[in-house]
Amino acid sequence: MENLMEKIVSLCKRRGFVYPNSEIYGGIAGFYDMGPMGHLLRQNMKKLFWEFMLVDHENIFPIDGTIITHPKVWEASGHVGSFADAMVESTGGPMGNKRYRADHLIEEMYSGEELKAADETAKKEGISTLEVYSKLLKGKKAPDGGVLGEVKKFSLMVETSLGVVEGEKKSAYLKGEACQTIYLDYQNVLDSMHPKIPFGIAQIGKAFRNEVANPQFMLRLKEFEQWDMQFFVNPKTMDTWYEYWKEQRMNWYRSLFNDKDSLRFRQHRDDELAHYAKKAFDIEYKTPMGWKEGEGIHWRGDWDLSRHGQYSGHDFTYTDLETGEKFIPWIVETSGGVDRAFLFLLLDAYREEEGRIYLKLHPKLSPYTVAVFPLVRNKQDIIAKAQAVYKHLKLESRLSVVWDDRGNIGKRYWAQDEIGTPYCITIDYTTLTDDSVTVRDRDTTKQERVSIDRLVDFIREKLKD
Ligand code: ATP
Repeated sequence: MENLMEKIVSLCKRRGFVYPNSEIYGGIAGFYDMGPMGHLLRQNMKKLFWEFMLVDHENIFPIDGTIITHPKVWEASGHVGSFADAMVESTGGPMGNKRYRADHLIEEMYSGEELKAADETAKKEGISTLEVYSKLLKGKKAPDGGVLGEVKKFSLMVETSLGVVEGEKKSAYLKGEACQTIYLDYQNVLDSMHPKIPFGIAQIGKAFRNEVANPQFMLRLKEFEQWDMQFFVNPKTMDTWYEYWKEQRMNWYRSLFNDKDSLRFRQHRDDELAHYAKKAFDIEYKTPMGWKEGEGIHWRGDWDLSRHGQYSGHDFTYTDLETGEKFIPWIVETSGGVDRAFLFLLLDAYREEEGRIYLKLHPKLSPYTVAVFPLVRNKQDIIAKAQAVYKHLKLESRLSVVWDDRGNIGKRYWAQDEIGTPYCITIDYTTLTDDSVTVRDRDTTKQERVSIDRLVDFIREKLKD
């Protein structure tokens, strides 16, 4: 299955889903662009995210925050001091020096019990996590065959500078996690929209990290996108809301994937938990490289609002007007990666069967919902009729409809299968006599005849499933 990943990478480039950024200059590690098909798939994913947040749930408010914020935000959040990965380099491997995340290697090499024991010894001896990591890894063989060296701290924040006069520029950071603007706008949402607790603020936004580990296509990018929701609650109700959002997010992912068993929860061990978190669960997807995190369901308590209160001087105390209770709201966070979900959906959808490749994407996610073909290219009456059907469908359904008259019909089906178009409509000789077309189903390859005046309803009906 390892080569499934290679197949996806190749399909992404060949069929316009994902392009390596700055490719004509040799590319830049950890940055990818969306091609036309990738853009459409991603738009559909985001549309479903917003539908989930705003239509399926009450009391969630959408925002769009900036990429650069006041530099103090990242001191308050703890990122400037501690947003760092432990990195270890191997030397002497066949491909030269290679960097690894120390925590990832340790998890592969040691059992949970061994790690617990190492943690306890470290506490007794009063040595730092980095020193523990070094003890566990130094001199050991790396996966590339090289030898591991000292473990070092590596800051993940991407720095930039603001200002035009050299020497007077101020340094700032690109968002290390998208959600910070949600805390910054919390009070504004409260004052302008007047929601009552519990309520949520959701956002899809960019994040930037100087990742240590070697890039693995879209799993670990330096510029990526997160879909987040922070739900502000009365501390007394935290447990209930935490469980609620954990289940809701998993159900949402499951509704989009074919193989429901390829998704699971992974509970964080005590030594992984942030100090303010009572518990944390990741929603993971089973990739050919093992289980990988797609979204975290985090217990943030009052950490974020209290820290921003402390650093800004703003008082975030909330008064419940019905009970008179005063508290700093606690937060349940759902924080997922759009790029990882994008990759997981493609891995889940990829099929090779009976000489054809097709993407079994959820019809609501496919870049194109419908493709329209004239059976032949040299009959004006068929082409004119097919153009009329194409325009009618596009305008009446407002769905993503594409015209395709390249090559023969077989090749067109093949091309649409590879980008996951669920329905292909062909206008043939019979259409000219009875105003019906064939609709071919991507997954079964079965065709049925549908009259043109029922076509829009027919497709809409299919999309309801
Ligand atoms: P990891 O341990 O895999 O680095 P994380 O725990 O640091 O991830 P969070 O900070 O919780 O991740 O971010 C929430 C989500 O953002 C992750 O579940 C993941 O889907 C996504 N994400 C984080 N880092 C990256 C990255 N470098 N590239 C792509 N997506 C990412």
